[in-house]
Amino acid sequence: MLDTLLELQTRDTAIDRLRHRRDALPERAALESVRTELSTAGTQLAEMTTRREEVAREEQRFDDEARSLEDKAAEVERRMYSGEVTSPRELQALQADVDQLRRHRRGLEDRELEVMERRESFDAAVDELRSRVNELESEAERLGAALAEIEGEIDQELAGERAARDEIAVTVDDGLLDDYERCRTRARGMGAARLNGNTCQGCHLSIPSVEAERIRKSPAGTVAHCDNCGCILVP
Ligand SMILES: [Zn+2]
Repeated sequence: MLDTLLELQTRDTAIDRLRHRRDALPERAALESVRTELSTAGTQLAEMTTRREEVAREEQRFDDEARSLEDKAAEVERRMYSGEVTSPRELQALQADVDQLRRHRRGLEDRELEVMERRESFDAAVDELRSRVNELESEAERLGAALAEIEGEIDQELAGERAARDEIAVTVDDGLLDDYERCRTRARGMGAARLNGNTCQGCHLSIPSVEAERIRKSPAGTVAHCDNCGCILVP
């Protein structure tokens, strides 16, 4: 019966290792860090896109105004050359209007050009952020798939180990199994270990030789614990 505990311990140790390996997969940490970066880049992209749109709207306003002024100037010119107006004084006044409208238009076009340059630098920033986001998205996808694959493999191994463990566990007396589980909780996973000479193979520390001798001479099935780690010692 005590030897069965050692088989159980072997399975439980394998399960603990697999669970620890699953929890500490570097792919998971890498995926989390990529997701954090992705969220930051996504926020930056949204902000930059908004600013770009504001500047683009400003650019469009200048463009619309400049066009409207040119339309007005063209309309005045049309009247000047239509023959409807013959008074030189009036024609002079109309020419002055045309000149003023075009001056105003050129002023607006200069401002539009400045805004366009700003908009173009925002375009470049938006493009850069967008390709960064795309890059991070593919990286997250790749890591996610890799993580799922490794987790799947570990889960399969775990299922096998758990099934084997349960098969052994049902053959162990309930009281002894409870004792074993209590020891495992106290001794960082070690519920039972071989007593090898005076050394507990659970904690690799020695117990007094008198004590070791007493354990070896006890009737079969007598439960004794290691003084150091508390696990069940199997002579
Ligand atoms: Zn021990």
